[in-house]
Amino acid sequence: MKMFVSLTPPTINEISTNTKVTTKDPVMSPIEGITTPESENVLSVPTDPPTEEKHTAYTPLISERAIDQARPLKVIYIGAGISGILAAIKFREAVPDLSLTIYEKNPELGGTWYENQYPGCACDVPSHSYQLSFESWTGWSKFFSGADEIREYWNRVALKYNVREHIKFESRCVGARWNDSIGKWFVQVVDEKTGSVFEDSADVFMTGTGLLNEWKWPSIPGLHNFKGKLLHSASWDNTYDMTVGFRTATSQIFNL
Ligand SMILES: Cc1cc2nc3c(=O)[nH]c(=O)nc-3n(C[C@H](O)[C@H](O)[C@H](O)COP(=O)(O)OP(=O)(O)OC[C@H]3O[C@@H](n4cnc5c(N)ncnc54)[C@H](O)[C@@H]3O)c2cc1C
Repeated sequence: MKMFVSLTPPTINEISTNTKVTTKDPVMSPIEGITTPESENVLSVPTDPPTEEKHTAYTPLISERAIDQARPLKVIYIGAGISGILAAIKFREAVPDLSLTIYEKNPELGGTWYENQYPGCACDVPSHSYQLSFESWTGWSKFFSGADEIREYWNRVALKYNVREHIKFESRCVGARWNDSIGKWFVQVVDEKTGSVFEDSADVFMTGTGLLNEWKWPSIPGLHNFKGKLLHSASWDNTYDMTVGFRTATSQIFNL
């Protein structure tokens, strides 16, 4: 997990003073491997310098909050795998006035355990140690449980702690930039259903996108000329009849 935190105190009406502008610079994304194409590089930045009047109006020397009133904190988290589910639980415990949004590119939570559905996919550490210390499940059917059972466990956890209410599914993060002048993260997200790009902002930006999440075909010359069925363990086709493939030696399985 990578966390990026705003240390700048929030200002009043900061977002509403911004205007959308298009820049030519590539978006510097803190998410490894993700950049925003120039055409999508629409960022919210202030277009007019603050006037004397605005300065006094927007940055009071003394906080307007009562001493026992928590600072409102908006958090954007990327990914609803195990890391994202746990982050949601722990963030809510730790931050009294929290507004949390988790953007997840898939239509479901679970990450690794949602995506890997190949026959026999299982945990290679004992199930009783691959779970939350505060949500101990003793009903595992096997010592090394299968992906379905692990997915069910995390679904139960997410349900119990109302994690789903924070998740925006089918929303892929494609870039993020820190705006120093107003002390906010601006995060670009693609709606996978419509293809449209929108922007959200937050005080804290955190990623739990998974080390093993972006599967790809191996670079084997002629791979895609193979006449049979190509299957990747991280993008399994459950409709494919494996018995046909193995009988006629026309399938290749990759787990890279
Ligand atoms: C087949 C397999 C078996 C494994 N077995 C074990 C094991 O036995 N023991 C063990 O400790 N670990 C195992 N692992 C490692 C496993 O990945 C981690 O234990 C754990 O599940 C990682 O959780 P995560 O939330 O960090 O990442 P992930 O589960 O990868 O979740 C990341 C989430 O982020 C989302 N995401 C990624 N990019 C974006 C984006 N740009 N925008 C929006 N959403 C995005 C993904 O869709 C995904 O839902 C295994 C992994 C695999 C693939």
